[in-house]
Amino acid sequence: MRQIDHFIVGGSGGAPARKGQVFDPNTGAVQAEVALGTAETLERAVAAAKAAQPAWAAVNPQRRARVMFEFKRLVEANLDELAHLLSSEHGKVIADSKGDIQRGLEVIEFCCGIPHVLKGEYTQGAGPGIDIYSMRQPIGIGAGITPFNFPGMIPLWMAGVAIATGNAFIIKPSERDPSVPVRLAELFLEAGLPEGICQVVHGDKEMVDAILDHPAIGAVSFVGSSDIAHYVYNRGVAAGKRVQAMGGAKNHGVVMPDADLDQVVNDLAGAAFGSAGERCMALPVVVPVGEETAEALKAKLIPAIEKLRVGISTDNDCHYGPVVTAAHKANIERWITKCEQEGGEIVIDGRGFSLQGHENGFFVGPTLIDHVTPDMESYHNEIFGPVLQIVRAKDFEEALSLASKHQYGNGVALFTRSGNAAREFAARVNVGMVGINVPIPVPVAYHTFGGWKRSAFGDTNQHGVEGVKFWTKVKTVTQRWPEGLPSGGNAFVIPTMS
Ligand code: NAD
Repeated sequence: MRQIDHFIVGGSGGAPARKGQVFDPNTGAVQAEVALGTAETLERAVAAAKAAQPAWAAVNPQRRARVMFEFKRLVEANLDELAHLLSSEHGKVIADSKGDIQRGLEVIEFCCGIPHVLKGEYTQGAGPGIDIYSMRQPIGIGAGITPFNFPGMIPLWMAGVAIATGNAFIIKPSERDPSVPVRLAELFLEAGLPEGICQVVHGDKEMVDAILDHPAIGAVSFVGSSDIAHYVYNRGVAAGKRVQAMGGAKNHGVVMPDADLDQVVNDLAGAAFGSAGERCMALPVVVPVGEETAEALKAKLIPAIEKLRVGISTDNDCHYGPVVTAAHKANIERWITKCEQEGGEIVIDGRGFSLQGHENGFFVGPTLIDHVTPDMESYHNEIFGPVLQIVRAKDFEEALSLASKHQYGNGVALFTRSGNAAREFAARVNVGMVGINVPIPVPVAYHTFGGWKRSAFGDTNQHGVEGVKFWTKVKTVTQRWPEGLPSGGNAFVIPTMS
């Protein structure tokens, strides 16, 4: 049995007291065991980070950026291997696994320009003989706690910016697919990063709590489900840390009567069912505006969904693979049943799906449910599977308010040919990331990623300039060189510009 160990300076330090099982979602078999660490494991990683970080922060930003360039080259050279590893533990198809890694690499590309972004502000002559300048300095030691659904992209959202800005970084990946972050940390070392600057500790709640309580860790970035995000935010902030905690989602796609329905159906199929719906920027709710739009959309959606091919993650011809665990499959099927009991009309039923030759794999068939209403629990909650719910709205205002009032506010999309409707929607909707005729509006790496309401706790987004702000503290220097200046006035009164 393959053993997945921590990646910390000084090695793992012997057999772990507890281990977790890592499945192959295609077959349902256990393919590896992962060490579940303790506060003591973390202590070793923190000690190594403490020893290495000051020298790394003192490396000039251009040289730090060169490590990012080399890391990008190495990840690209190892892309096939990384994608297969990712796919074997997560279950997403190989092409999608490559996309997962590529989106993370785009953050590394942003980090290649870190010297430019780290430049501070300067005011000459802010007062008589007084100049003011600011600089951004690393927090010191940062940690990232990541979910199972993007084991390449999300650790790199955090690691890239944290490391490029001069921090030491410790990743605590999802225990369900922990191998890719370890490979990425190995490649960072190969790219020239000093030992102790990027480490990986594995574990579950015990390790998360150890991170949140550790006094030497100054910043924690979390991505996962909302209840855990809220818990992480509260506990981390109570311990005096800087915390950003991204949570769950239930993104709506609003379809106006003037939308190009063929395009919408094509977009929805990918956005609702790609990666088996296990994306925080999936579109699991479609809101057609008006009965005519709803009927026309449904008529086109049914054959498109029936054509979707579910298969093992290495099958290049399938649209999506298995979900991550048997427990998650059971949970998705429970939500479909719940929605049916609440009055939803099951148009296409993916429950009980079995793939020939892979009967024990964690597959869920594509599911379409119509006449879902806002009072249903199954609408209110995240299902995180290949399930598309249709919620009919009578007009634009009702559609806008559905997305705006939902507890989650990660992403939303509007499909229309009207610039005016698009402009109005983008300005008024109470959601953090908006797509106009773009079903999955994940911003590129030099912009920032983050939702609103229960989709994010804390006030800075991931990557881009917001990420740089999160992983650094600003220091502002007010300086005066008194030579030749008249001696000052009353030093007991606060200086003003009056
Ligand atoms: P999860 O909340 O179960 O796990 C996330 C992390 O928290 C993991 O590292 C896990 O080990 C840890 N964890 C789990 N239970 C814990 C507990 N009781 N105490 C402390 N830590 C705990 O999430 P998941 O199932 O791995 O990922 C899917 C979720 O992540 C979905 O809700 C999805 O919407 C969300 N997500 C959000 C974003 C975003 O940017 N908003 C991006 C990706 C995924």
